[in-house]
Amino acid sequence: MKRSKGVVLLSKDKQALLDQIKADIIKQNICPDLAKTAKQLVFGDGNINADIVFIGEAPGKNEDEQGIPFVGAAGKFLNEMLGLIDLKREDIYITNIVKYRPPNNRDPEPSEKEAFLPFLMQQLEVIKPKLIVTLGRHSMDVLLPGLKISQVHGQPKRFKGQVYLPLFHPAAALYNGGMRQTLIDDFVAIPAILEKIQN
Ligand code: URA
Repeated sequence: MKRSKGVVLLSKDKQALLDQIKADIIKQNICPDLAKTAKQLVFGDGNINADIVFIGEAPGKNEDEQGIPFVGAAGKFLNEMLGLIDLKREDIYITNIVKYRPPNNRDPEPSEKEAFLPFLMQQLEVIKPKLIVTLGRHSMDVLLPGLKISQVHGQPKRFKGQVYLPLFHPAAALYNGGMRQTLIDDFVAIPAILEKIQN
């Protein structure tokens, strides 16, 4: 990702830029088939000045209905984990790689991830988080290609000047006891990772 160092944007300018990116997705008719079957674009939510951005896969049914990422069962689990590290949803920013719900919650296709990637990169360039947490393999694949989530989860990775933390997806871990505890263990390391980046 291209990082323009030293440029500090005001919140209102950041919001205007994010609104423009959202408008561009609609204007450029990105993934028209998904746009047709989805109720709405789910762009992102939370604090645009956050130190941490979480990136999931694609909206599900609840997200499609409400226009907000991670508001279903996976979102509830994510909120619980944020609570463990004394953070609220308002303290972080959250989005997905693919911004329309795929029909029947199928996995996003490579072409769909590719089509949305430039917009995700622009979104990150505006927010400029210190840490990007990828949730699940789809999100990790587009940002940190070539890694295996089972091998690298919980390990911070620096790539092109940006620090990433790949984590399992909360939906995958929700009903799998072992993976759930692993995700929680990885998640509670976030404050220490952030502190290390800041120093
Ligand atoms: N899963 C995701 O990856 N994203 C959401 O917004 C909801 C569930």
